[in-house]
Amino acid sequence: MAEADPRAGAAAEATRVTAVIVGAGMSGLLAGIKLKERGIDDFVILERSDSVGGTWYDNCYPGASCDVPSHLYSYSFAPNPNWTRAFARQPEILAYFRDIADRYGLNAHIGFGTEVAGAAFDETAGTWRVAAADGRRWTARILIVGAGQLNRPWTPDIPGKDGFAGVQFHSARWNRDIDLTGQRVASIGNGASAVQYIPEIAPLAEKLTIFQRSSNWIIPRPDEEITPAQHARFRRFPILRKALRLLIYSINESRWGAFARAGSWASKRLEKMARDHLAAQVHDPKLRETLTPDYPIGCKRILITDDYYPAVCRPNVEIVTEPIARIVPEGIETASGRRIPLDVIVWGTGFETAGFLMPIDITGRAGQRLHDVWAKGAEAYRGVTVTGFPNMFVMYGPNTNLGHNSIIFMSERQMDYILPLIDTILARDLVLLDVKPEVQAAYNRRLQDRLASTVWAADCGSWYKHDGKITNNWSGSTIEFWRQMRRVDLDSYELVPRERSKAAA
Ligand code: NAP
Repeated sequence: MAEADPRAGAAAEATRVTAVIVGAGMSGLLAGIKLKERGIDDFVILERSDSVGGTWYDNCYPGASCDVPSHLYSYSFAPNPNWTRAFARQPEILAYFRDIADRYGLNAHIGFGTEVAGAAFDETAGTWRVAAADGRRWTARILIVGAGQLNRPWTPDIPGKDGFAGVQFHSARWNRDIDLTGQRVASIGNGASAVQYIPEIAPLAEKLTIFQRSSNWIIPRPDEEITPAQHARFRRFPILRKALRLLIYSINESRWGAFARAGSWASKRLEKMARDHLAAQVHDPKLRETLTPDYPIGCKRILITDDYYPAVCRPNVEIVTEPIARIVPEGIETASGRRIPLDVIVWGTGFETAGFLMPIDITGRAGQRLHDVWAKGAEAYRGVTVTGFPNMFVMYGPNTNLGHNSIIFMSERQMDYILPLIDTILARDLVLLDVKPEVQAAYNRRLQDRLASTVWAADCGSWYKHDGKITNNWSGSTIEFWRQMRRVDLDSYELVPRERSKAAA
């Protein structure tokens, strides 16, 4: 099949392709590679930014890195024996994904600077009609959405925000033009992103004020340089690299027990590790108390860093736990009326996570809109298919996130499941393949029952939940996910061949 030109679509006519993939991040690239392997070459990857890499392109704040070790945080089929650190930094991870796009010939398929505005399913033709914000259009038999869960920066609505006289930016939109040396800086938030940039900016700032609403459980990060001699060994004996990958995976997987049930033996062991880490790095008992969470470990994402506690112990760093009342032109005013003068505010306040796939307006069968269907909390079947939205596959969709292991492992398992479904649509010339509503409902009942006894159901605020329902996280170990995804269950789907559809019309 011929390659589709992603720059086309500008004409009044929509460009016809077999598949449209939304997003050129880790999931979208994976989908492209696997389609090519299946001999499907006429697909486009529509990417709103001007690079591949998704979150690893957006998040270029100082200190950005992955808290899953690099020898695991890479595709299983595309190892990199040359990672320079145990936990690679963002530039190296981005370079990895750019290299993947080159090596697998994906760049010719990618339409950079293409923001997908909407997609609507045409039930008669059995195609998705996809529209970009600039008016370009495509029609595709298959729609794969790999838009990610953490791509829309979120800032709370604090009064006076727009009146701040200094500079302000979100951690995922880091302003590289601003030199923080000698500045009075605030970090609103102390989550996974903040604990990575705070150690980098604390030594530069005249004063750094961290506005902490809740504290986090933090465990050590066994980071180290990987030497050229080790690279040579990994290249010469790939079995060593494979063994290391398996070891990292197994250590992470062994932590699942701590998430499966709060108060379990595994959870106590992990909490002890976190408490020992805090005690070893913070000697001031008052500060230790400020930094000790009041919810079970794992309820919010566990943070992995050796640098955060030493940074907050610096004399020029202060943690403020009082709520923010308002932002004034000169800085931040707390609830008690204390005014903290500032030059720069960094919003480390995370992402919009409730409205999966927003702002893309997706319309399925009978005109139903995904935003409406998911208004009370997103759900899918096995995280990838959604009833009423045939021939559409979501990557890193509802209930596929983890607290303990690599998301790349999960995405590869999703693709293992999706590919035979795509094959079925194409080989049998189906107009639609749609998961049966009762199958999806039963799956989600089981999933939510199981999630109810996990640590995420405990009393803490986290982006894993939407109005109390756990919409983001998978309910078991990654081995259980793998077992579930390797069995393709066509009887869970309504399959409508083209002839039957014509006869019905
Ligand atoms: P986040 O974990 O959602 O943290 C947001 C922070 O902002 C929290 O400390 C939160 O406090 C605070 N906050 C929100 N509203 C506030 C308000 N009105 N006043 C004061 N503080 C407020 O966001 P993130 O740090 O960007 O991380 C998001 C996710 O990205 C992570 O969970 C992780 O999955 C991913 N991530 C991964 C890595 C990696 O190494 N792989 C690195 C960075 C990020 P509360 O805790 O009280 O809500």
